Amino acid sequence: MISQPAYIGRFAPSPTGPLHFGSLVAALASYLDARYHKGKWLVRIEDIDPPREQPGADQLIIQSLERLGLYWDESILYQSSRLEAYRALLSELRQMDLLFPCTCSRKEVGVVYRGKCRQKHFRSLDMPYSIRLKLNNPSSIEFHDRFQGKVRQNLKDAVGDFVIRRKDGLFAYQLAVVADDEYQGITHIVRGADLIDSTFRQIYLQQIVRYRTPGYGHIPIITDLSGNKLSKQSYAPELDLSSPQSCLISAMRALGQNPPNDLIHLAVSDLLSWGVEFWKPQQIGQTSIPANSMMD
Ligand SMILES: [Zn+2]
Repeated sequence: MISQPAYIGRFAPSPTGPLHFGSLVAALASYLDARYHKGKWLVRIEDIDPPREQPGADQLIIQSLERLGLYWDESILYQSSRLEAYRALLSELRQMDLLFPCTCSRKEVGVVYRGKCRQKHFRSLDMPYSIRLKLNNPSSIEFHDRFQGKVRQNLKDAVGDFVIRRKDGLFAYQLAVVADDEYQGITHIVRGADLIDSTFRQIYLQQIVRYRTPGYGHIPIITDLSGNKLSKQSYAPELDLSSPQSCLISAMRALGQNPPNDLIHLAVSDLLSWGVEFWKPQQIGQTSIPANSMMD
């Protein structure tokens, strides 16, 4: 019998554009941490939001990872192949009487949902309304982030009953990620701090359906010179992969690591071996986290 490794990490990009520097830093952090712990590193393509996606971006991301020597274990999981599982999780929550249909417009909802449609009943799960999860009392979630320390959020105050299936019929990110982290047996999640706000909702969902909660570490968000987050949406420049070594060294430095300049002459596999051997996650910086979360 083969036992599961004690560490299974993952990199889970959305195919909204090619890999940019910010997503490389997140990929590299999760890769180095997994390899340092002799764990598995999985890649999952989060393609459940077609309106935001760019055709072929998944292949561009995969090719970039290969060029950077960031090879994954097992086959790549596409979220678009998991719709049945998401539907099953939705049904499970419905049987627990935790869902309600919401017909409010985005404008009516605002930042925090105040429960306007809580008393509404379903005619069918397939109707064109969004489906929200009814928060129980108390709805405060606290966890120890490996890089950011203790963080907590009161979901009722920060977001309210949140959407788990959208009005357009697409499953919400939170539901799909929770289903897939459980399905893939993910034990450690290392990702960008822009997702810390989602983590509270994901842990809340895990607790309701009695899934394991992985360990979380959120790395600082990479910003451009004017302090804006680098993302595909802000037209972050595509990585110049003519020197993958140079990309990897810059990404290691963004993670607080100290690769010497002469590593640039190594093959990417040797450069990554150096990164694993001298991986010092305690040198990853803290970051400013969302105002509706608290740190101790
Ligand atoms: Zn509503």
